[in-house]
Parts: sequence; structure tokens; C-alpha cells
Amino acid sequence: MSEGAAKKEEKPRKFQAIRGTRDLLPPETALWNRVEQTAHEVFSNFGFGEIRVPIFESTDLFARSIGAETDVVSKEMYTFGGFEEFSAKVREGMLSEMSPEEMISLRPEATASVCRAYIEHGMQQLPQPVKLYYMGPMFRRERPQKGRYRQFYQIGAEVLGGSDAPAIDAEVIEMVMTFFDRLELQGVQLDINSIGDRNCRPKYVELLRTELLKVKDKLGPDSQRRIETNPLRVLDSKLESEQGIIATLPRIADHLCEDCAAHYAAVKHQLEMRGVIYRENWRLVRGLDYYMRTTFEITARGLGSQNAVCGGGRYDGLVELLGGPPTKGIGFAIGEDRLILSLQESGKGPAQQGRDVYIAWMGERAHATAIRAAKDLRKAGFSVELPPVEQKFGKALGQADKLGAKYALILGDNEVSEGLWTLKTLADGSQAKFTEPDLLDHLRKSKRVSS
Ligand code: AMP
Repeated sequence: MSEGAAKKEEKPRKFQAIRGTRDLLPPETALWNRVEQTAHEVFSNFGFGEIRVPIFESTDLFARSIGAETDVVSKEMYTFGGFEEFSAKVREGMLSEMSPEEMISLRPEATASVCRAYIEHGMQQLPQPVKLYYMGPMFRRERPQKGRYRQFYQIGAEVLGGSDAPAIDAEVIEMVMTFFDRLELQGVQLDINSIGDRNCRPKYVELLRTELLKVKDKLGPDSQRRIETNPLRVLDSKLESEQGIIATLPRIADHLCEDCAAHYAAVKHQLEMRGVIYRENWRLVRGLDYYMRTTFEITARGLGSQNAVCGGGRYDGLVELLGGPPTKGIGFAIGEDRLILSLQESGKGPAQQGRDVYIAWMGERAHATAIRAAKDLRKAGFSVELPPVEQKFGKALGQADKLGAKYALILGDNEVSEGLWTLKTLADGSQAKFTEPDLLDHLRKSKRVSS
């Protein structure tokens, strides 16, 4: 090997974030924090408490709840401890033979975990319904694109208990809409539907399958496959050539059983009582198996084809399916990445994480005063930048400008011996001298005026 080649090999590898994952950096993270803080506030206003569930769980938990046939479980989960074996078993339909302890998966969503926790901690003993919310990363091996990642973030909530009163559905939806309203999210559109229950949905799905088989030749390969696997998902299709055909298909609203129809009508009435504006969308179905009756989706502006920021619905029976007592449930998951994208598109993102005060100091005595001033100002709630090494005042002021500081506090020998500190307002270049207590007062007052 030539010396040149050896040297080339020594060059350290440049690492990059894995495809479909990304770093969230300041100042954008300030917006993430604002969104999450607003969620904490709004959800607690509605009487929800935060739950934090693990990032990974038994694979079986997701397979049983989301459905082994769904794309999420069969293709998109990050599974450890014998992935090959797991996929083979899924293909053979032998999943039930696997011991639940055998595999673990990174969570692709959190509803299953929340239901598991509800059972594990005997939450049915608590006053019902139990209202929980969560936020954090989810993992799905999907094809990455704008608004679609392999590690993405969801903010969600679940209501679990003995009642499926339509007012619960309506209040959950009202809560998401209040949250979006508080964030001033633009172009919000709420779509609702009812997808029936175990009584009426199977009959409708069969009818849909029969009708779809009649027009099979006119459908694309994805929809053709779904006629067998999950005909409801054909209604989801965005393919231009299929739209005319889909419009002629039977609609679930015309095939709901009496109970489901009454429940749906009551949910709509309850939404109206709350002033929540909705659009009925008979083609709205959910990708995950466990949903029934009320389903909803919220879209927002500026997101292109991946414009759904929230999906939710009712899933009575899921807790029971996971070995718990008969329990009704409803919840939603907001895609936080998309929510942030939409807020940024409409100019709601913070441009820069500015400092309140940049302390320009020169000389050893001034350094000691600067350290004390920084401590006091930070304690009073101001964001302070204290340069670690001495800088000429001109350079320090340039630096303060670049960091978007509002003020520069100038501390040199004169200031320290006189006990009068110079405060420069960077926006207009004006300067004034203050004693230490007056300075704090002045900054506090100007902060109150600007906020
Ligand atoms: P789901 O859990 O599939 O009902 O999705 C709920 C919401 O999560 C969607 O409306 C999206 O906003 C968001 N979401 C789902 N998958 C992804 C993904 N791969 N990347 C980013 N956001 C996603």
C-alpha cells in the first residue's frame, strides 16, 4: 500500500445522522419547547395528567394492538432479538407462537403502551375516566420525505374508562383544537367520520370488497392489493385516476348500525355545542386496526402532501384485547414535526434565540464585577452572555450584535471605580449610566414593557 493510501485511510470517518433521523438545533428547539409547554398547559387545563412510557416494549404488544397485518407492524418496526424470525412468523401467520419476551421493538406509537400501563397499574381503580397525555419520539421505518421521518415526535392523549359518552369524543377534539388555536396554527381543518364497530363494520367492509372487485381492473396495484388486505384503506388513496371510482363506492355512514349512527350524531351535536367547526369526510379511515366509531384527522397549511398534523379516534376494546378489563378508549396523536413545520411556514418560528445582556468587560477587576453582575442578572431571569476571555470593547460589541443581544453592559476600570455601569441599547446605540440596583430596575421595567 502506498504511503498516500495509508494516510487516506487514517482520515477519520465523517459521521452523519442516520437516514430519516435529524438533529433539532437552536433556535428551532425554542419553538419545540414552546409547543410542548403549551401542550402541558392546555392539556392540564382539560384535566389531563402526563404519562411517560418506555421507548421500547415487547414486540407482541404492538403486534396485538396495532395489528400484525398493518404496514406499521409488518414492515416498519425497529425490532431487536431476531427480526428475521419475527418477519417469517408474521408471514406465516404464526405470530402467536412467539413468546412475548422474545422480541422488543422501538415504539411506533404510544397508545398501546398507555393501555398496557393502564392495565399494569390497575388504573381502572382510579376515578374514571383516566385522562393521560404523552409526548416523545416514535420510530417507523418509512420512506423519509418532507414531514415524514423514521424518528419523529408525537404529542398525544388518551381517555380510558367505562364510558363512551359522545361528550368525551367531543371534548378530546375540542382540546386539540384549543391547543392548535393557542399556537395560532394556520389553515386548520378538522375532518371527522364514524367507521362503525364490530357489529356493522365487517358487513360494510365486505360490501366494499365486493364493489371494489367489480372495478379491480381500473385500480392501481396498491389498491388492488388492499382489496384483499384492507379494503377501507382504498378510500385513503390519493391516486388521481382512482378518484372517480372511489366517489361511486358505498359510504359507511349509510351502513352504520343504529347504535353507531346515534353515537355519531351525538358527537356532531356535542362538537357544535362547543363551537368546534368540522367537516364530515366519509373517506376518512385510520391506518391502525384498533380504531372504531369516531375517527378524526386535522390538517394544516404549508405541509404539501404530508399535511395531516393529528390523527385520532375511538378504540373501545383495545384494553380488553391486551388482557385488561372491558374499557372504552379514545385518543389522538399529533405529529409534532409537522406541527412545527407548519408553524415555521407561517412565520411563527423564533428567528434567533437572542440574549438580553452581553457583558463586555476589560481588566481583572472588571472581570470579577462582571461575574457577579452575570450571576445577579441571571438570577433575576435575564439571559446573559459573559465572554470567558477579555476582548476589546469594539470586538465585544460586534459579538453582542451577532448574538442578537438587546443590551451590552460595559464594564471597564472607570465603571468599576465609579460604581456606575454603562448600558448600551444595541438597537439604537444609545448609552446611559446606572448604579447596580438602578440597572436591575431599569432592565426589569423595559422587559415588562416589551413582553
Ligand atoms: P398515526 O399514529 O399514524 O395515526 O399518526 C398520527 C400523526 O403522527 C400523523 O397525523 C402525523 O402527523 C404524525 N406522523 C405519523 N408518522 C409520521 C412520520 N413517519 N413522520 C412524521 N410524522 C408522522
